[in-house]
Amino acid sequence: MALPPNATIGIVGGGQLGRMSALAAARLGYRCHILTPEPDSPAAQVSAGVTLGDYEDPDTLRAFAAAVDVISFEFENVSAAGLDLLASLRPVHPSPAILRISQDRVAEKSLINACGIATAPWRSVTSRAELAAAADTLGFPCVLKTTRLGYDGKGQALLRGPESLDGAWAALQPKPLILEGLVDFAAELSVIVARGADGTLSAFDAVENRHRNHILDLTLAPAPVDPALRDQAAVMARALAEKLDLVGLLAVELFIDAHRQVLVNELAPRPHNSGHWTIDACPASQFELHIRAIAGLPLPPATRHSDAVMKNLVGPADLALWPEILATPGLIPHLYGKSEPREGRKMGHVTHLFPKNALPGEFGLAAALGPLG
Ligand code: AMP
Repeated sequence: MALPPNATIGIVGGGQLGRMSALAAARLGYRCHILTPEPDSPAAQVSAGVTLGDYEDPDTLRAFAAAVDVISFEFENVSAAGLDLLASLRPVHPSPAILRISQDRVAEKSLINACGIATAPWRSVTSRAELAAAADTLGFPCVLKTTRLGYDGKGQALLRGPESLDGAWAALQPKPLILEGLVDFAAELSVIVARGADGTLSAFDAVENRHRNHILDLTLAPAPVDPALRDQAAVMARALAEKLDLVGLLAVELFIDAHRQVLVNELAPRPHNSGHWTIDACPASQFELHIRAIAGLPLPPATRHSDAVMKNLVGPADLALWPEILATPGLIPHLYGKSEPREGRKMGHVTHLFPKNALPGEFGLAAALGPLG
């Protein structure tokens, strides 16, 4: 059943993903209401209402649920138990069950492999002895990660040899951990797929993501790789959305390894930084598909009218270029309303569009980004 115009969509989380979801929701005639502990959050600035309080506090959660008609979330580190409480009061999309899987790298990789989709080789590590055994099996170099609460490269350690085991085991919290073989990747890709309550699937073309200091720096849309590999990535994303019985949005992060094998790295059941280009290059952005899916509206195909490069504006250094960015023809600016430009904090992004199927090479991309190139 479709959510009628003027209904209220509740979003757990007050960051930029919630902000851009709320802007898309407003265009479709919905109001958004944000749950966040943070006063003056990027999402609440552009929303009709906000409940300020802790994600774990039952009274806060009940007050939030009472103010909304349907609920989604914009980040993964919200507690699944909290979402369970919300789901007992209002429809929650994607489901708390999907959130639980995406919060646990072992559950996530087990599900991906159960779909017949390859990942880096991995072992669950719950003790120092298991770490030694896993490292014996997978060999060096390998990557040790927390199974929960990791993001932007936090909660992981590269292990080059047996001498790094003790230090990494002591340093990484919380336990348990997962050990993964190091993928010698040629490129990192992502696919964003939406699935409606009626089972309709819409997937954007795979994009390439390049990181700086473990934070997404550039997204190239579409990924400048063999289209057959992009198609393989999209087939995997659709299969995972089906398997999860998704209603909402799923971002699938992938590697293309040195042997042209496509491996899935991780899943995020929410809008994703690598989909920001879709606001400017697509008739319906990832945020519109997200809102449509959770509101029970028809899902349009995830097509683009243009190719695009997206660059994140991170920390004070990128933000200092804002006047030049605004003065550069072709750069489409987005700022998230965060008052403090801390080091490593995503403050905004820019998009530059190119004719469809005409993404330039490295020099053309750098030239298009002007002061950011
Ligand atoms: P993750 O938190 O799993 O997304 O990892 C953050 C980044 O670390 C990824 O985007 C990759 O650049 C790198 N990375 C993570 N796992 C592996 C792996 N098994 N092999 C090679 N690089 C990895």
